[in-house]
Amino acid sequence: MLVSAKEMLNKAREGKYAVGQFNINNLEWTKAILLTAQELSSPVILGVSEGAGKYMCGYKTVVGMVKGMIEELGITVPVALHLDHGTFEGAKACINAGFSSIMFDGSHYPIQENIEKTTALVNACDVLGLSLEAEVGAIGGEEDGVIGAGECADPNECKMIADLGVTMLAAGIGNIHGKYPENWPGLSFETLAAVKEKVGDMPLVLHGGTGIPEDMIKKAISLGVAKINVNTECQLSFQAATRKYIEEGKDLQGKGFDPRKLLAPGFEAIKATVKEKMELFGSVGKA
Ligand SMILES: [Zn+2]
Repeated sequence: MLVSAKEMLNKAREGKYAVGQFNINNLEWTKAILLTAQELSSPVILGVSEGAGKYMCGYKTVVGMVKGMIEELGITVPVALHLDHGTFEGAKACINAGFSSIMFDGSHYPIQENIEKTTALVNACDVLGLSLEAEVGAIGGEEDGVIGAGECADPNECKMIADLGVTMLAAGIGNIHGKYPENWPGLSFETLAAVKEKVGDMPLVLHGGTGIPEDMIKKAISLGVAKINVNTECQLSFQAATRKYIEEGKDLQGKGFDPRKLLAPGFEAIKATVKEKMELFGSVGKA
């Protein structure tokens, strides 16, 4: 069964750990993440960007695959299926398709328009028991072709959006999607502390979890971050393991061309990355 992310994130915030959001791209990704969460008894959030949703043939296909897998793999830990960086139209489509959690990214709109659109979704998600993530202050890097600079959110705007009744809030604190550049100055803990001061108990979300040093992750959790998004890191470990398999010529040996063999090292690599992150975030055993 899919659940809203509300309860798992409130528990995480109280327990000073974070729940990982791991983005999915296909069956192997989904299976690797669900099995790892179950093995480690950790709650988990499966993230789906609009681009990945299209790639997987649409949101209904995604919901069918995830629900089927939860049942047939015997997954009993809490799983939220979450739209990542949704547009307003995408949010409506995922609500209709049966997602249990929605992110509406209105950070590129003027604050008043972000407030109006977020309010409409707060009401819809409330009625259906879904969790809703909002964003203030664009997060840098590239997300489905859109490149941002990694700004810091205005804590007053964060409070305005948090007060609308969203479940969790993503605030830009100098974090970036994808790989971090060499000269990255690090997370702005001043901004994080100022946002936390304004929004009180609301669970905060840290996007761009790939490559943030461990001590910064732990400090962010201590300052109220209860959800951390990981996407690129699973892609990089899948890529490295798949490259190794082919470079070693294993696809040319025996039945090494069988897709179930060819994709197995990448699948195991995603599992290892997810395990490492769940251990770092402190969510192991919290299901
Ligand atoms: Zn993001």
